[in-house]
Amino acid sequence: MLPEIEALLALQRQDTLLFEARRRRDDLPRRKEALREAVNQAKTELDQAKKDLEQARLARRTSEKDVEGLTTDAIKLERQLHDVKTNKEYQALLHEIEGIKSKRSDYETRILESFEREETLTAAVKAAEKRVTVEEARLKDGEEKLAREGAEVDQSLHSLQQDREAIKVRVPPALLSRYDRLLGVRDGVAVAEIKKGACGACFKGLTPHALQEARRGGEIKMCDACGRILVLAETSMT
Ligand SMILES: [Zn+2]
Repeated sequence: MLPEIEALLALQRQDTLLFEARRRRDDLPRRKEALREAVNQAKTELDQAKKDLEQARLARRTSEKDVEGLTTDAIKLERQLHDVKTNKEYQALLHEIEGIKSKRSDYETRILESFEREETLTAAVKAAEKRVTVEEARLKDGEEKLAREGAEVDQSLHSLQQDREAIKVRVPPALLSRYDRLLGVRDGVAVAEIKKGACGACFKGLTPHALQEARRGGEIKMCDACGRILVLAETSMT
C-alpha cells in the first residue's frame, strides 16, 4: 500500500472517531431538552388533573346548593298544605311537592356520583404529582450525567484533534485537500474500501480494468460514482 494511502486510511479512522464524538456532543442539548420536556409534560398533566378535580367539586357544591333550595321549597309547600281550602288544591300541592322531592333525589344521586368521581380524580392528582417528582429527579440526575458526558466528549475531542494533526502531516497537501472536501460533502466518509469489486461506500461496481489498477496499487483511485478515494481492503483481496 502506498504510504500516503496508509496515512489517509489512518486519517479516515481518526475522522470517523471525531465525527462520532462531535455527533455525541451535538446531541447533548437535545437529550437535555427531552428531559425538560418530560417534566413539563408531567406538570401539564398534573395541572389538568387538578382542574378536573376542582371542576367536579364545584359541580357537586352547586348540586348541594340546589338540594338545599329544593328542601326549603318543599318545606314551604308542605306548610301551605295546612292552609289549602279544597281537595283539588291539596292534591295539586301534593303533586308539586312530589315533583320537587323527585328532582331533589336526582340531585342527591348526582352528588353521590360526584363523590366517587372526586375520589378517582384525587388519586389521579396524587399519581400526577408523583410523576412530576420522578421526572424532576430524572432531570436533575440527567443534567449531572450529561454535564459529565459533555466534559468527557470535549476532552476526547481535544485529544482526537491533536492526534489528527499528527496524522495529517503524513498526507500530501493535494490529496489532503481532496480528502477534506470529500469529508464535508460525503457525510464524514472520504475513503472507501473496495469490497467485492465495488466501492464500499456507494456500492458502485468497479470496471475490471479499474479493479486491476487498484490491485496493482501504483496510483490513487477514485470512485466513478461518489468520488471517494478508494483503497483495497487488506482483508479481502477481491
Ligand atoms: Zn463510491
